[in-house]
Amino acid sequence: MLARLCLVVWIACIGAAPAMAENYFVRNQNEYAHALKQIEAGDIIILANGEWRDFELVITGEGKPGKPITIISEEAGKVFLTGQSSLRIGGKHILVTGLVFKDGYSPRGEVISFRRTKQDVTSNSRVTEMVIDNFSKPDRYESDYWVGIYGKNNRFDHNHLVGKTNKGVTLAVRLDSKESRENGHRIDHNYFGPRPVLGSNGGETLRIGTSKYSMFNSNTLVENNVFDRTDGEVEIISSKSGGNVFRGNLFLRSRGTLTLRHGDDNIVERNVFMGHGKDYTGGIRVINRGQTVRSNYMEGLRGTAFSSALAIMNGVPNSPVNRYVEVEGARIEKNTIVDSARVGFNVGADEERSAPPSNSTFANNLLSGLEGQSFLESYDDISGISFSGNRVAAGEVGAALAEKIEQAPVEMGRGDNGLLYPVDPELRDLGAPRDLQPIKLAQVGVKWYPKPGDEIAFGSSGRIIEVEPGEGTLAEAAMAAGDGDILQLRSGDYTVDRSIPVEKALSIRGAFDEGAEPPRILFTRPSLIELREGGNLQLANLVIDGELAPDSVGNSVIRTTTFPIQSNMRIEMDGVTVRGLTVNKSFNVLTLGKSALANRVTVRNSSFSDITGTVVSAAAETEDFGQYNVEYLDIVDSNFANIGGPIADIYRGGRDESTFGPFVTISGNKMAGVGLSATNGSGASVNLHGVQTANIARNQVAESAPFRVVHTVGTPKTAVTGNQFAGTPEPVLEELNYEGEHRAVLSDNQFAGAENE
Ligand code: CA
Repeated sequence: MLARLCLVVWIACIGAAPAMAENYFVRNQNEYAHALKQIEAGDIIILANGEWRDFELVITGEGKPGKPITIISEEAGKVFLTGQSSLRIGGKHILVTGLVFKDGYSPRGEVISFRRTKQDVTSNSRVTEMVIDNFSKPDRYESDYWVGIYGKNNRFDHNHLVGKTNKGVTLAVRLDSKESRENGHRIDHNYFGPRPVLGSNGGETLRIGTSKYSMFNSNTLVENNVFDRTDGEVEIISSKSGGNVFRGNLFLRSRGTLTLRHGDDNIVERNVFMGHGKDYTGGIRVINRGQTVRSNYMEGLRGTAFSSALAIMNGVPNSPVNRYVEVEGARIEKNTIVDSARVGFNVGADEERSAPPSNSTFANNLLSGLEGQSFLESYDDISGISFSGNRVAAGEVGAALAEKIEQAPVEMGRGDNGLLYPVDPELRDLGAPRDLQPIKLAQVGVKWYPKPGDEIAFGSSGRIIEVEPGEGTLAEAAMAAGDGDILQLRSGDYTVDRSIPVEKALSIRGAFDEGAEPPRILFTRPSLIELREGGNLQLANLVIDGELAPDSVGNSVIRTTTFPIQSNMRIEMDGVTVRGLTVNKSFNVLTLGKSALANRVTVRNSSFSDITGTVVSAAAETEDFGQYNVEYLDIVDSNFANIGGPIADIYRGGRDESTFGPFVTISGNKMAGVGLSATNGSGASVNLHGVQTANIARNQVAESAPFRVVHTVGTPKTAVTGNQFAGTPEPVLEELNYEGEHRAVLSDNQFAGAENE
């Protein structure tokens, strides 16, 4: 509020200046257009409170230093641009503040653009205290930028950007014209809020430049921003130009890294990365020449490989501009990395990336990994890096590094700033500086718009709605239920005559006396449940029976709508029995369709029998663009008998390396007669294509088709351990892009012939 007050006072002062600036109060788009024709330096256009629907707001003009042309809301946070809206800024010395974009999306390539046209690019302009809230294009693979910064000396500060679900960088600094290079932009005090996993490349939160212009300096300052759960892809920030400074930013529970992807002579200093033990949380990835990484603090990071706390990469000799320029002249000093999974040297070393770092220093870093686990690793020659004054306090150190870095425990305590430091005064110059002050959430974004909390949990409304058995009762109750409600069913039959649309977090649970029959759901349409935008589904302690289902192409108990879904879904089944899906040849249990991504699908303590199709089908993205339908799939402690297709069919094709998933766990299950249908194209009982991490453990598999695991790009990890196979062929393993033995780890598996059973 204080910041806003200052801004208004400042504008009022300008208003009192001798030039007699005008205020234009406008109530609609016509009045705005009229005002726009008359504005001069120092003038202010005030947009009336309320909704401005389908407003392609354009501003241009010649402001002057200290006398900008201003667009401001009547009251901060009370002017909403909805529907098909956008903002384009041309001219110079323009200030825009206090607007909220929500309930819609830009009809253009950007929501906020620092240019009106290709010719009219703004300079010395400022966009501050703006909100872009879930203003995403409906199709997750239709690309746009929320903010495109062009020109010179522009500032983007104290803005709140949350929930981009479609492809394309949240904020891009563009260098595609001469007047946009060496730009001196400032990007500061912004709140970059949750950006869900995109499931493809193009999920970066901030990108500066592109490979094409990476030989140019951008000279952009990125300072004191917060990146909160920005999980879009492997790069949170992709710096693709030279001369940028990343200082004092806070990365909270965010998957991926600040990546110095292209361009030289960047500085990364005094940033704080707090992973809180979340999967794939990373720090900084170093590529190219003359990079400085100093005085950063990292804690609780769990990423390895490309998403390590620190990944110093190998380069490509004489690299083309779009590949990997060698690390040369890097200075990596006085960083603290604690409770983190990996610091890697020569990351990405392979036949192409064969050039190790040279002429580089690695000094006075305090490093502490996870006790008893691999921590510091090198994957090629490290003779081009000079090591001095570093200390590893915990975690295993690879042989080549062990002779260069001291290993000894370090007693640490938390400073007033909440960060860990060595207690021993002798070690006070080791690691990040004492005066580091992590930026606080209250210091970024705007005061008048709430920052998002955790996602809505199943049952979070606290309402439990009892539903009587009968015809139509369940569908009626489901459609009337609110977000976080629980529908409670008792013993008896529930017949559903329409596909139930789910666009909220809905739980359907059975509650019945011990020894009584669980509730049974029958349905007469091709699917029982259709998941739509905002839909999350939890099923527990009930039976789903296909007895009344029609003979219709593409039957599936649960499916996603054919419209693209922006938000990532969760689907849980616990104590569920599904049986008798036999009316036709490929009747699935769960089908995730195109342009839908489930963040997590969990199946546990459940039982599936007499099903002609696939239990979990997540194989709709077949174009090999690196897109996929499920991030985490867990199938555990469940029974499968007489299933025509695989219990899991996952497809993630293409050679792109921008995503972490899919991540699959299949453990503790009993499988009999799975995957043997003539219509099962994969010929597998579990079919994983392009899955990055798969744990297949302790399953008992009898008289079934083999497991099939196809590795594509990256460093996929597959473990098949402790399984018992009877009358089932050995797993079928393929590598598509890797020469040599299949990288899957197979151990403690038992194979027995059918006759032994
Ligand atoms: Ca990327």
